Amino acid sequence: MEVINNGYGSKKDAGYTRIEKYNETKVNRIAELYKEILSLIVEEKYLDGLSETPERIAKSMQFLTHGYNFDPEEILTSSVFKEEYKQMVLVKDIELYSMCEHHMIPFFGKAHVAYIPDGYITGLSKIARVVETYARRLHVQERLTTQIRDCIQKTLKPLGVAVVIEAKHMCMIMRGIQKQNSVTTTSAFTGVFMRETKTREEFIHLIGVKLM
Ligand SMILES: [Zn+2]
Repeated sequence: MEVINNGYGSKKDAGYTRIEKYNETKVNRIAELYKEILSLIVEEKYLDGLSETPERIAKSMQFLTHGYNFDPEEILTSSVFKEEYKQMVLVKDIELYSMCEHHMIPFFGKAHVAYIPDGYITGLSKIARVVETYARRLHVQERLTTQIRDCIQKTLKPLGVAVVIEAKHMCMIMRGIQKQNSVTTTSAFTGVFMRETKTREEFIHLIGVKLM
């Protein structure tokens, strides 16, 4: 199934076209199951407006978990350059949207990623793609943080990696203890960021986050 959505109907000469592809067999099967779930939680008289919903959920679920289809290590190794730069490379405020693996409810926020190269750098957009690829899976924030760190450490072998994630968890906000404004901060370091307080503090100062 291929849906061409350029926001202007199907104008042929549009400069930019976004193509969404879904696995049709999966969409149908997930939709079937969601239809059953809906029939269990919504009384029949309220089901009227929901006829298209199972297919929509099936597609959105595939989008929200598309990180399983990509290998973050491959994304980084596809773009490694030899470079003598040995200062901190920092990509901050990377938008992050994920879903907790306990409730499949969103958590979202920002990731800040830094590394100090030891002969090799990668494209800056690749760092954001690594964050995106891991985030678009079912996750817990703690493991998401260490996986991003480990992926960069393993592929670029830098002098150190630092990752901080700040996120709000809808499963805490909407249900459970309903703590509306709580932000969870997690961090993971390797190498010089772990060993040298000064380097770690410089990173923390640059991202402007208070760590415990
Ligand atoms: Zn949760």
